[in-house]
Amino acid sequence: MIDLHCHSTFSDGKLTPIELLQLAVKNNVKKLALTDHDTIDGLLHIQKSSIDYDINIINGIEFSAKWKKFDIHILGLNIDIDSNALKDGILLNKDLRRVRAQNISKLLSKLGIKDAYDKVYQIAGHKDIGRPHFAELLVKEGMVRDFQSAFKQYLGRGRKAYYPSQWLSLEEVVNVINLGKGQAVLAHPCKYQLTRLKLHELIKSFKEAGGMGIEVVSGQMMKHQIDELAGLSNRYGLMASTGSDFHSHVSPVSIGKQAKLPENCQPIWQDW
Ligand code: AMP
Ligand code: MN
Ligand code: MN
Ligand code: MN
Repeated sequence: MIDLHCHSTFSDGKLTPIELLQLAVKNNVKKLALTDHDTIDGLLHIQKSSIDYDINIINGIEFSAKWKKFDIHILGLNIDIDSNALKDGILLNKDLRRVRAQNISKLLSKLGIKDAYDKVYQIAGHKDIGRPHFAELLVKEGMVRDFQSAFKQYLGRGRKAYYPSQWLSLEEVVNVINLGKGQAVLAHPCKYQLTRLKLHELIKSFKEAGGMGIEVVSGQMMKHQIDELAGLSNRYGLMASTGSDFHSHVSPVSIGKQAKLPENCQPIWQDW
């Protein structure tokens, strides 16, 4: 089994990197990429711990990026975590994420949550705060009945507590990943609610910017979506990636348990 997309407590996941590795080994995963949002701190944590697991760890990251008015995600796989260009790019997005967290907190304070920033920081346990941490806060404060409603009513694009972050552009992110000797992979292309025309436009721009692959299988998907993405990857000359996008034990797909990649795809990990 191979899983090239998951999250730890260093971003918005609920398992520490070591717990993720243990679960991956249990699920018979042979290659695992930890891809936290805009941070490699989890990878540095693994590097520091001297525990040796029977698994091939691929250095990864999930960058936030701006394409037109859309927030999209780009995976950087097999990156060189010592690359200065990569570190600089990460710092820019980290700053934008921190500014966004302050601004979402201000919006929530106006909506009645006192000390929203302090509370969300407590929930995250670090400053790389993501919207899922705010969703938890909204549930805890009784503003919504569940996690999903928090996104629907407050945190989703255009909702009451949405703050449009600038992020690095698609081109900048792909460039940073390439400078960092990694492969840029367009994450979960079906999740951006794009029309078919816009999806083609996005993939074309991504390829032109120097992107290498698209995530054909990502978390829970329908068979027809997988087949469509496999077709798109071949049509645009992009390699195929696969991952669970696992965040926690309530995620729909456990580590390494995502659907199989169709036979006609060219796996991005073939040379690793
Ligand atoms: P952020 O990078 O802080 O904007 O947060 C993005 C993360 O929020 C994604 O990686 C998901 O984990 C989560 N997320 C985004 N949209 C939704 C949604 N509609 N429902 C539940 N979780 C979501
Ligand atoms: Mn996430
Ligand atoms: Mn994502
Ligand atoms: Mn993800």
